[in-house]
Amino acid sequence: MPMGEKQVAQNGPRHRLWSLSDSEECAKDEEESGLKKHLTPLERLTMNMCHDEKTLKELLVGRRVGFYQVRGQIGSGSFSKVKLAFHALTKDKVAIKILDKLRLDAQSLRMLSREISSMETLQHPNVVRLYEVMETPCRMYLVLEYAGGGDLYTRISTQGRLTDAFCKIVFAQILSAIKHMHENNVIHRDLKAENVLFTGEACIKVADLGFSTRVKNRSDILDTFCGSPPYAAPELFRDDNYMGPPVDIWAMGVLLFFMSTGTMPFRAETLNKLRRCILDGSYSIPTWVSAPCQRLIRGILRRDPSERCALDQMLGCEWLLPVEMFRPRAPLQMNPMALVEADPESLLEEEEEVKARLEELGITMDHITNNQGKGSRCAITGVYRILIHRAQKSRGAERLPVIRGVVKDPKRDSLRAYRSLRHTSKFCVIA
Ligand code: ATP
Ligand code: MG
Repeated sequence: MPMGEKQVAQNGPRHRLWSLSDSEECAKDEEESGLKKHLTPLERLTMNMCHDEKTLKELLVGRRVGFYQVRGQIGSGSFSKVKLAFHALTKDKVAIKILDKLRLDAQSLRMLSREISSMETLQHPNVVRLYEVMETPCRMYLVLEYAGGGDLYTRISTQGRLTDAFCKIVFAQILSAIKHMHENNVIHRDLKAENVLFTGEACIKVADLGFSTRVKNRSDILDTFCGSPPYAAPELFRDDNYMGPPVDIWAMGVLLFFMSTGTMPFRAETLNKLRRCILDGSYSIPTWVSAPCQRLIRGILRRDPSERCALDQMLGCEWLLPVEMFRPRAPLQMNPMALVEADPESLLEEEEEVKARLEELGITMDHITNNQGKGSRCAITGVYRILIHRAQKSRGAERLPVIRGVVKDPKRDSLRAYRSLRHTSKFCVIA
């Protein structure tokens, strides 16, 4: 019996064994509404999910999935539809990636389980979070942090290339996200502008870990060709196998080129010509790109993976020198059992806040214990992760990188970009 249903069965309406007169019906309705008033939000929700006609209908037609009220479609990919949804208890907005299992072959199912496992490993302000996983016989639902500001590809296609200063802010976040992935032995393998989402004017989240893989060591050899051809490193076309980190780094170089110029470094009408272009490594950077940025692009887009700029070298490069990276705080436990197992005295501020909020919603430590071991496939984990993330954000856990001092770009557009940045309050430029 699903959690909460037991209490509902005890308190809620029972099957009618005999018929009631009007006054008896009335009294019963009053009794039920009185009872409802005393239910916790969790009990009310689970009761509605079992007995309320409207809720049941919504569950049937897909307007509700688990504890989420599903709204319109906000995106789609080769394997999925992504819909906006609200958590019925916390009211937070989330994105639900819905995959039709019947359309996925064995390879795609393996990739899906890697996507989940990679996301479970990561907790970073610039990587989309996974809150919960739900499964029915036909579908998989990944409940994700909502990034409602559109994707980087659309932004550049509609508004043109990014100013040098804005480019730094965005690239610094991508760099921080990929560094976190590689430090946790996760290789993204599909880094591209379409998979960089905005949550605000300048805050980005790297999304879509559908082609990602977890390695034991960063030097492990991989042999699956995946990703988007314009972002593919030469070794993917040239060799039978490759190392993961340099492939992500190459894609970062293509992305940096695209952000700073609004065009792609390697373009061709056919895949074969594109492959030739990438293998030749021939591209030219417009002269108006600042010299330090040009040097970084050249340092990354090297045909030999062993010569490619490493992430730590990028962090110290001249172009990113004025950027003060935001150092994320230590990750918090993503499993609600942390609240049960920890000594109450040793709970962090965020955890205490979440524990209190869970109790208000009617989620007790017993509920958590009874559902342990289910990981992300548990509605309580979903609530817990949403609340923990909210508590982290309210304590400034997702601050943007800051540009300190005058941006030292010799090229003419940089000063203009810097001036325009000073007047946006969305991110901070300290002179
Ligand atoms: P593909 O492999 O073709 O890139 P996919 O099936 O793996 O696609 P995603 O890239 O994860 O799917 O998502 C498809 C689209 O849905 C994204 O391009 C984006 O527009 C939207 N989307 C995905 N995740 C989110 C999110 N967390 N918040 C808001 N929108 C999202
Ligand atoms: Mg995608």
